[in-house]
Amino acid sequence: MRFDTVIIGGGLAGMTCGIRLAEAGRSCAIISQGQSALHFSSGSFDLLSKLPDGSDVQDPLEGIAALERTNPEHPYAVMGAERCERYAREAAELLRRAGISVAGDCRGNHFRITPMGKARATWLTIDGYLTAEAPDRLPFRKVCIANVEGFLDFYPEFIAEEFRKYGIECTFASVNLPDLEQIRQNPSEMRSANIARVFDHERNLDALAAQVRDAAAACDALILPAIIGLNRNDSLEVLRAKIPTPLYLLPTLPPSIPGIRAQQALQHRFRALGGEYFLGDSVLRAEYDGNSVKRIFTANHGNIPFEADHFVLATGSFFSRGLVATPDRIVEPVFGADTVATSDRSQWYTLRFFDRQNYQAFGVRTDAALHVVREGRAIGNLYGAGAGLAGFHPVQEGCGAGVSLLSALFAADEILNSHQS
Ligand SMILES: Cc1cc2nc3c(=O)[nH]c(=O)nc-3n(C[C@H](O)[C@H](O)[C@H](O)COP(=O)(O)OP(=O)(O)OC[C@H]3O[C@@H](n4cnc5c(N)ncnc54)[C@H](O)[C@@H]3O)c2cc1C
Repeated sequence: MRFDTVIIGGGLAGMTCGIRLAEAGRSCAIISQGQSALHFSSGSFDLLSKLPDGSDVQDPLEGIAALERTNPEHPYAVMGAERCERYAREAAELLRRAGISVAGDCRGNHFRITPMGKARATWLTIDGYLTAEAPDRLPFRKVCIANVEGFLDFYPEFIAEEFRKYGIECTFASVNLPDLEQIRQNPSEMRSANIARVFDHERNLDALAAQVRDAAAACDALILPAIIGLNRNDSLEVLRAKIPTPLYLLPTLPPSIPGIRAQQALQHRFRALGGEYFLGDSVLRAEYDGNSVKRIFTANHGNIPFEADHFVLATGSFFSRGLVATPDRIVEPVFGADTVATSDRSQWYTLRFFDRQNYQAFGVRTDAALHVVREGRAIGNLYGAGAGLAGFHPVQEGCGAGVSLLSALFAADEILNSHQS
């Protein structure tokens, strides 16, 4: 099989790169072994919330300019502040073209609310989810927090405890329906995706609205966990039309309905543009022609290779097995790319969970054009993108989705420009 570009990994980075290339008319394949970090997403996309020294970032583009001066190994610094600004704007538009309706501005973070009720700075949030300009400026003074009976991945009491710190009065409502009984029989089945399937049915959406409408009547907002809209786009609209109180969603513990929907929307957009998407297949190895990747081989296709002019490595970090830790090394399993990591294992992590962990910045070594480096040499037609890149701390710096989106657009641009030259 032959394509212009083959992308390995179908998470946020791989899909974004594939969509950008397919929009430019390139023939493109994405091979992805499993689900991505999007299935655990908060429903918000972070660009940059903190600098490495822990100071807060209000304007992510200003923060990126600071990183360029202080942390040259950070992917944003490698790409350069100017191109980052361009890609940040393009990324938001690309998501919208894929049907992921997001609000936010790369010139000013807003705050999302976590499943525990904490406010966290972020860049883009999917429409319908509760946001605020500042943690103490939530858009209500009295709120009703509803939950489904027996659903354990959402914590109204914790959320209320946080809201009360800002003088907000909280009341609660509980929802139950005959159609939930079947999944409730096994408590481990009471997960967001299973519940959302129940609410994909019109009659259950109607019943949900009927059960919370009165409880929320005396409040100036109603909050629901993100358990609607798995397989339909209009669930929130339908509920809003039936409930006079302003309604907001909050993310739950995984699986994440907004993340699953975002993944589906990206896949749909890629395929609609003519992209070929191979889900459930793993890239195992590559063959080279001098300093270029010639072809790659996958588990499902055996001896039938995938050939291309360009390849993109978007296999993620440890979470997606794009990086693997052995007792003494950090390995990139497909190409055996060089990795950036400290050799002393005792420096990899501290036992204090919330500390800045060194291993999070480990990743694939790349050059200034994000070419993947192997045995000390940059591979001319292989680009790195996404969570597997070295030099950043996605959690502490609040930059996970931003690095994936922007590096994917950078890699796509490099590929498109190399065609022109
Ligand atoms: C649990 C979790 C939650 C997160 N939540 C957020 C959030 O809410 N907001 C935010 O801004 N950031 C978040 N992040 C940061 C996250 O890394 C990025 O947002 C982004 O989604 C990562 O996308 P990616 O495509 O780079 O990598 P991934 O999403 O990890 O995708 C990599 C893909 O490559 C595939 N793959 C791996 N090896 C192979 C192979 N050999 N062959 C074929 N396919 C392969 C994997 O199956 C996977 O589908 C989160 C990260 C994690 C781990």
